[in-house]
Amino acid sequence: AAKSNNGNYAFYDESIREQLQNDVKIETLLRTAIDNMELSLLYQPQHDTKTGKIIGLEALVRWNNDEIGQVSPFVFIPIAERLGLIDQIGRWVMLEACKQNKKWQKLGLPKIPVSVNLSPIQFKNRRLVDDIKSILQECGLEGKYLGVEITENALVEDIKDINKKLSSLKDMGIKISIDDFGTGYSSLRYLRDLNLDVIKIDREFIKDYPEKDDGSITKIILNLARELGYKTVSEGVETQEQLDFVNLNGGDVIQGYFFSPPVSPERIEEILTKQNE
Ligand code: C2E
Ligand code: CA
Ligand code: CA
Ligand code: CA
Repeated sequence: AAKSNNGNYAFYDESIREQLQNDVKIETLLRTAIDNMELSLLYQPQHDTKTGKIIGLEALVRWNNDEIGQVSPFVFIPIAERLGLIDQIGRWVMLEACKQNKKWQKLGLPKIPVSVNLSPIQFKNRRLVDDIKSILQECGLEGKYLGVEITENALVEDIKDINKKLSSLKDMGIKISIDDFGTGYSSLRYLRDLNLDVIKIDREFIKDYPEKDDGSITKIILNLARELGYKTVSEGVETQEQLDFVNLNGGDVIQGYFFSPPVSPERIEEILTKQNE
């Protein structure tokens, strides 16, 4: 059926082939990214809504390759999951974040937790709890200075199994956040039955406020969290108006460009030093 006068089909074939070659290229390069020290972490501050003080950080992975440049985690994390590389990358992220946090503590900076993102595949891995234990030990970091963020999609298995795992993490003092709340296989049952600490409200529900969105979903989730005794982090707050809205509706913590994008560990050191003065 591929008959075309204007070359559209040919163009399409070409772009699919290019895309495939591109994917293979990324896959090949990703396999050696850790060994070649191409991964790094940025940290985005989380601010107390009322005081503006930094009360936590989220570690966000970056991949920079000489040949293909900077690749977004939105692109390479799903590939890492598919290729079975996510456990290795995830462990690297945790180790790096814990080492860095310990460094800041040794500098006498305010002690705050750093959260890492856990892919559902990582969360389901039976070695997760032991891995985290040995990483904390290796770094000499107390569990209360590590947080984990899991998405709703990690929570679709047996509630009992999940709670067992969550309890082992909690026993170490680790704070557990449910990430991107409202965008996955949301179920209110998780909030009732699972041993979680923090709800992170996805950027989706604040990004168009007030122009194209009256914020009602954000408001409802904030109320729900309060009723159920969860802390909240509102993601993606970019404007004063959005900050005021979250504050007015009882949001605890803000993470977004209004305060800061993800930044280098050196920059975090400067910011925390200032906050300490
Ligand atoms: P996420 O966990 O929801 O992380 C928040 C993302 O929103 C980050 O994108 C952050 O830079 C961005 N962001 C924060 N505030 C604002 C804002 O005010 N406006 C806008 N437009 N964006 C904001 P990033 O760093 O590109 O990460 C994208 C996603 O990749 C993360 O979403 C997370 O799902 C995944 N990811 C990042 N690092 C890791 C990791 O170490 N492990 C795993 N499994 N996933 C990761
Ligand atoms: Ca996250
Ligand atoms: Ca998120
Ligand atoms: Ca998000």
